[in-house]
Amino acid sequence: MDTSKTNKLAVIGAGAAGYFTAVNTARMMHPRLQVTIFEKGRDVLSKVRISGGGRCNVTHHCFDAERLAENYPRGSKMLRWSFEQFGAAETVKWFEERGVKLKAEEDGRMFPVSDSSESIIQCLKKEAEKYGVKVATGTSVQKIEPQHNGTIRLTTNKEKSVVFDKVVVATGGLTREKAYDWLNEIGHSVIKPVPSLFTFNFREKIFSDLSGISVNPVQVQIADSAFSEIGPLLITHWGFSGPAVLKLSAWAARFLYDKEYRFDVVVNWLHPLNEHQVREKLISARLGNPRKSVTKQEQFLLPSRLWIRFLELSEITVQKNWADISNKEIHRLTAALTAGRYTIQGKTTFKEEFVTCGGIPLEEVNPDTLESKIVPGLYFTGEVLDIDGVTGGFNFQAAWTNGWLAARAISESGS
Ligand SMILES: Cc1cc2nc3c(=O)[nH]c(=O)nc-3n(C[C@H](O)[C@H](O)[C@H](O)COP(=O)(O)OP(=O)(O)OC[C@H]3O[C@@H](n4cnc5c(N)ncnc54)[C@H](O)[C@@H]3O)c2cc1C
Repeated sequence: MDTSKTNKLAVIGAGAAGYFTAVNTARMMHPRLQVTIFEKGRDVLSKVRISGGGRCNVTHHCFDAERLAENYPRGSKMLRWSFEQFGAAETVKWFEERGVKLKAEEDGRMFPVSDSSESIIQCLKKEAEKYGVKVATGTSVQKIEPQHNGTIRLTTNKEKSVVFDKVVVATGGLTREKAYDWLNEIGHSVIKPVPSLFTFNFREKIFSDLSGISVNPVQVQIADSAFSEIGPLLITHWGFSGPAVLKLSAWAARFLYDKEYRFDVVVNWLHPLNEHQVREKLISARLGNPRKSVTKQEQFLLPSRLWIRFLELSEITVQKNWADISNKEIHRLTAALTAGRYTIQGKTTFKEEFVTCGGIPLEEVNPDTLESKIVPGLYFTGEVLDIDGVTGGFNFQAAWTNGWLAARAISESGS
């Protein structure tokens, strides 16, 4: 950029990535840069507002770049390096320096101590105001045209066209492939967008009356595939949710899309015990508690209503005592507990957080700068890229990281 004059930067999209790119570039280049954010919606930072159930899960308490990057089904290779430049520790510091302290919960998710996403919104808005960032809401960018002199012309629904020195595309996960047409027109390709982070719906409602029961840890595997996750599983009215299922939905997002969300899962409810160990435990329960009701079990610590459901599914009469259980029944119960197979038909988008798998291929941007390899002066940050993480604050972290790297690159370009 020309350091002797005031440069003009346009950021398309007023989400986490767009705002973070805008405020950081404006600060780093102050007062030599005029930043304008174009937002098609009426409000800014709307996903930040509703995120994490209104609390905003800003990042994850994982300050090691390599481990942090392991939480991204798409983008992990590129992010591993990026996190060394600006990772979770830098995010915590960035917000703290601006008066928003973050706290970590037991599972590693980090929220503002206020437990309100409004703290994050106000912090970003204040920063934008401080550095004179203009925000044009209700303004949709419809066309990008690179000019011969290196500038970029934007056409919006409001003005005829405006020319900028640099442009950042931070339009988030666009769910329809057609929504990328204006980016295809300038030579970028798109990896078909499909949903990630969803829960699994049952065909039969075998557990629906047990909604709310959570078991941890379980192993959930997508039948006849290598996709498998270990962690908490939550029974819902419609099917299965909880971290193990959400993570599985992210890692297998494209595979499950191709299967039209019809597939079987196999659940080991007693992980890390295997089939042999569970059978042995059941046999010793029969020997040790012959007169006790089979509805009583202490060795597995499963919720009692769920245990009774496994007895029913194994066709074991609940009036029986342990002594009355046959070897065949023990065999069926072992199978239900360690390899329960359930048919999934359809998905429900997780209400706390859902993201798009797919978008602009990472091969089309420079990983150090997020600049397009096709159109110089054009940058991409956030979910518009083919980057997405599992649930837990990882998606915002990718947006902050991309935003900061692009800001640094823009501020250093040509100086
Ligand atoms: C309900 C919900 C809860 C979530 N909770 C969390 C959480 O707690 N933690 C976490 O890490 N992640 C969470 N996520 C995911 C996270 O919100 C996204 O990954 C993140 O918002 C992506 O940021 P972004 O700036 O790339 O995109 P977005 O936040 O989607 O912002 C893109 C913006 O660009 C605008 N736009 C699009 N096209 C144009 C155009 N042509 N012209 C002008 N403007 C345009 C859009 O209107 C939008 O405002 C949640 C997602 C959802 C849906």
